[in-house]
Amino acid sequence: MWIGGKAVASNSEEYTTILNPATGRALARVAQGDERDVEQAVVAARQAFTSGVWRQMPVNKRARVLSTIATKMRERFNQLVEMEVLNTGKTIGAAKGQVAQAIENFEFFAAAIATQRGHVNQMPPGFFNYTEKEPVGVCGQIVPWNYPLMMAAWKVAPALAAGCSIILKPASLTPLTALMLAEIAHEAGVPPGVFNVVTGPGQSVGQALVHHSDVDKVAFTGETATGKTIMAQAASTLKRVTLELGGKSPNIIFADADWNGALHAALYGIFYNAGQSCEARSRLLVESTIYEDFVETFVERAKGLRFGDPFDRKTQMGAIISRQQLETIHGYVTSALEEGATLLLGGKEQAVESYEGGYWYAPTIIGNVQPSMRVVREEIFGPVLVVMPFKDEAEALQLANDTSYGLAASVWTGNQGRAIRMAKGLQAGTVMVNSPFSAFPGSPFGGFKESGIGRELSLEALDLYMETKSVISYYGEHVLEPL
Ligand code: NDP
Repeated sequence: MWIGGKAVASNSEEYTTILNPATGRALARVAQGDERDVEQAVVAARQAFTSGVWRQMPVNKRARVLSTIATKMRERFNQLVEMEVLNTGKTIGAAKGQVAQAIENFEFFAAAIATQRGHVNQMPPGFFNYTEKEPVGVCGQIVPWNYPLMMAAWKVAPALAAGCSIILKPASLTPLTALMLAEIAHEAGVPPGVFNVVTGPGQSVGQALVHHSDVDKVAFTGETATGKTIMAQAASTLKRVTLELGGKSPNIIFADADWNGALHAALYGIFYNAGQSCEARSRLLVESTIYEDFVETFVERAKGLRFGDPFDRKTQMGAIISRQQLETIHGYVTSALEEGATLLLGGKEQAVESYEGGYWYAPTIIGNVQPSMRVVREEIFGPVLVVMPFKDEAEALQLANDTSYGLAASVWTGNQGRAIRMAKGLQAGTVMVNSPFSAFPGSPFGGFKESGIGRELSLEALDLYMETKSVISYYGEHVLEPL
């Protein structure tokens, strides 16, 4: 792992074997951290924070270090992509896009630092008040396995920009690119102790960060259930908490939409990253007048998705992260069929020549569903889509918002007024109109309802790594006698 500016072994001296999900074979051995390593990292992070070596560095110099991180990531682009593909089984096309976005995130926050400023506020005569922004302090950042480097970059870049010190805990299954990022940041000039990575289980390393009295903020991405636990636990030390959690995002297709664009986007919306995306559009809602035709064409297109070597640019769907996740996915499909739904495609493991030991699941489409079914209500985090018809805007909105989640929603329509009405009515942190893409550095990303608290990727994210200090002074001529 990476503590105090260097690679270190864990106190336990134990190691975990990391697998390649495409083959099921061993890929690497990584130090298995525990509470003692967290303690060591928190001490290093606190010392670095107190010393002011990073938080008091002139803003233009701190921005230059962030830009250098981006430059060094570009220099090692192919290595980062290769490692991400090997550690997740995702396709090379997906990995390239995600590594590129991780880099752009550092570039965005290098520029965004300059926007941070306080205000001079209205006060009674004789009083002068200004506010300034200060970094929150030591931040524990806990990320999942679906986009290992990109999720790390979403958290690390704004925290570094704000002047915080960090202890990053990657997912147990995918720690490799987070470790590379720490090394790159060090080479780029991030001082020792400012950016630490502790690898190991959520139950020990993650929990130690959440409970530690010297950690000022926890930023978490992962399952909603885990996020709720973390938020409750963080209350005892009143840590700042930001949460990026699950989703069950709708993709709404009106009859007046551009069919071809909507079909491509619907495929991408659920099968990109093999459906292991928080913002996966996992509920396809189609206007009833085109429902039969659209779904039939969609199923035909999904049948043609190509599996194979994740490093082959022609491969369109990659592997599932683990055997356990694959079984969870299949369990959802089984439950849907038991509840009376109809399987329109897939519903089984996918055989992939030369990758027999890996974890692959077929693109799966389920029709004839009821709003109460688990497969409609719960996040599956796999390539499983439910399809439902709607008759008008009101019903589309009612179905789309009938969920405890609120991360993202897509609308496809050729009618501008309808697009705006839908965007206003949808309960989601991001609404995409005639666009498959939901995340760009600069645009706030985060959830309504049980999809989270806070925003990433944007100026709002930077603000969430800062405290506002209000300074009030008196400049009047008369002595104040308040008592
Ligand atoms: P988990 O919540 O299981 O794990 C996420 C991270 O938290 C991992 O690093 C994990 O460690 C750690 N962790 C697990 N339990 C605890 C705990 N009690 N205390 C502290 N840390 C803990 O989610 P998954 O890894 O299964 O990731 C998939 C989930 O992430 C999906 O639900 C998805 O929707 C969500 N997600 C949300 C995104 C968003 O932006 N809204 C983006 C990406 C994913 P370990 O690996 O050791 O278990």
